[in-house]
This record gives sequence, C-alpha cells and structure tokens, in this order.
Amino acid sequence: MRLNCKTCRRLGMSVCGREKCAYKRKPYPPGVHGKAFRRGLSEFGAQLRDKQRVKFLYGLRERQFRNYVLRAISQRSVPTGEAVVASLEMRLDNITYRLGFAQTRAAARQIVNHGHVIVNGKKVTIPSHRLKVGDEIEIRSLSRQRALFVDLGATLKKYAPPAWLELDKTNFKGKVVSLPQAEDFIKSYNLSSIVEYYSR
Ligand code: ZN
Repeated sequence: MRLNCKTCRRLGMSVCGREKCAYKRKPYPPGVHGKAFRRGLSEFGAQLRDKQRVKFLYGLRERQFRNYVLRAISQRSVPTGEAVVASLEMRLDNITYRLGFAQTRAAARQIVNHGHVIVNGKKVTIPSHRLKVGDEIEIRSLSRQRALFVDLGATLKKYAPPAWLELDKTNFKGKVVSLPQAEDFIKSYNLSSIVEYYSR
C-alpha cells in the first residue's frame, strides 16, 4: 500500500515512514482551506482519525486491523490495549523494521516477501507472521551480499532497538526477549479511542 503524504497531513501525523514526509513541512490539512480555522472533530471523527493513524502507520488494511482490535477486545486474559499492541508489534515485518534491518515498515515487508528473512532457522515470507518471545530472526546469509544490505552493518552501528528485542549487529541477527512495552505506545496513540471505534 503506497501512502500519499496527503494522508499524513489529513491525519495530523506522519504515517508514511518517509524521512521527508510532507507533513513535516506543511503540518496542516491539504486543500485550500487547510490552513483556515477548523471546527473541532466530532467524537466519531476523532475515533476515526485515531484508528486511521495507527492503521496507516503499520501499513495495514482495514480488515486486518479491525480483526486485531476485535480479537483483542474478546480476549479476556490480557488487557485490550496490550493485546492490540502485541498484535501490531509482534508481526514479522514490524520486528524486521524494529531490529533496524529496514528503514521503513514498507521496506521491511518487501524484505520478508522476497525471502531474505529467516525465523528460527527457516525462511518465512509472510509479513503478518506472528512472532513469539524467544523467536530468533536473521537476514538469510545468502542475501547478505546483496546490494540491499551492503550498508546495513554501518547503519546498525548507529541503531538501538527497543528493549524487548536483542540485536547482534555483526551477524544481522535478532531475538524477541520479551513482549513489547504497551506504555510507550499508549502515550503516543489513543488506544481507548480506537477500541471504542470498533466497539460501537
Ligand atoms: Zn508522509
């Protein structure tokens, strides 16, 4: 899914993953009235915006995103917010991105699709594949000579993964050491608003 920065500007947040996102230059909605005073959003409008932000950020289609939230709501053993964050963060494409193996989630998805990523010793080409604590991820050794990965060693030297991931920068290997921290996510995105949107 190729995102236009108009979407970023409409949502009031950069969700495209581009370093030069147009929202950073023009932090107001697109169109001739973009800079004009806007009326506040309705509750529904705000919920819609909040869920679109996260859905686009992770590059998901509506059906998949909705399934994650609905499953999280129906799961009684884990708080809903934590279950949503785990569904999003434990995807193979996201963890490939979080380990610094790709600069954007879209690029990470490509790397997985093209068979460059190994999970527990086996090639996995499904970006939505859900990882578990203890899983080991690496860039396939045959792929490491590819132009795509020539600068990866240098890039990783300057990169720090989140605390729930372990990264071996020399060998392009990583491990999931714990579940992702939901707190940081909850600070940045309005999860309760998203849950309400799908509970209506
Ligand atoms: Zn953008």
